[in-house]
Amino acid sequence: MLSRFAPSPSGRMHLGNVYSALISWLSARSQGGEWILRIEDLDPQRCKREYAEQLEDDLRWLGLEWDAGGVEDPEYVQSQRYDIYEVYLKRLADLGLTYPCYCSRADILATQAPHESDGRIVYQGTCRPDGTRAKQEWLAQRAAACPHAPAIRLQVPDRDIQFIDLHYGKQHVNLAQSCGDFILRRSDGAWAYQLAVVVDDALMGVTEVVRGRDLLLSVPQQLYLYELLGFQAPTFAHIPLLCNESGQRLCKRDLSLHMGILRSRYTAPELLGHIAYYGGLLPEPVPTSAQDLLPYFNWAKIPTNDIIVPSV
Ligand code: GLU
Repeated sequence: MLSRFAPSPSGRMHLGNVYSALISWLSARSQGGEWILRIEDLDPQRCKREYAEQLEDDLRWLGLEWDAGGVEDPEYVQSQRYDIYEVYLKRLADLGLTYPCYCSRADILATQAPHESDGRIVYQGTCRPDGTRAKQEWLAQRAAACPHAPAIRLQVPDRDIQFIDLHYGKQHVNLAQSCGDFILRRSDGAWAYQLAVVVDDALMGVTEVVRGRDLLLSVPQQLYLYELLGFQAPTFAHIPLLCNESGQRLCKRDLSLHMGILRSRYTAPELLGHIAYYGGLLPEPVPTSAQDLLPYFNWAKIPTNDIIVPSV
């Protein structure tokens, strides 16, 4: 089996990112599987190579070694894989399921993984062709008036997509109602997270995806892409989010529990002991190594409710 950690290098990792990395690493290693590191730097405005280097340093410090990938290997860096995404976009276009979208409404968030707290906009299908001449003419006018290249959207079906999350159980989502036709490429040419993540997970042979539960809602979009592209979907296991004492999900802008601060106050074994304790794996926060946590790893111990972590 093969699992992966797929961070966006848009800032220093916080404890929640470390928890995701640790659980996916433990899940892979406890099954004798491999663990790869993919750098998801699709957003040129927010992602920096130095953040990727820093997160690799943080992972090494924690003892979470990866078998392949990282910023030095262009095969595993999304900004080096645009030609590949182009091929798969064309496949979807050949199925007649994509269309240009001229809406000026911000598609800016499309390269980012849509974490639940970001809110969701259901696209109403304004630019979706409906086969009528009137709409075709109206779209041609919009195209002529559009000052930039169009975004590309994928038509979604109005039916339930069902799946079983290894940790959160049975789920079903209707894409037409939950998000509408979604973006595959932004109007500025940037590739959308949903397409890139599916193409990469499939081509890299990922068989298990472990990540924060704020991406649970992305699974149906991803499964739909797996289906259209004829790829075998991995299993999905989402994990609870880490929150600060006021109950807010940790984010990279919030510096209270980021790795810079944590590394100045704790040794790696102390920090791993704390995460393992808060994350349900250890009954007490005793210093440990990632390797020594392997016998304690069991999905049944991981909570489903979000985890509040006191600030240091
Ligand atoms: N790159 C995404 C993030 O850092 C994670 C994507 C994923 O694991 O599917 O939020």
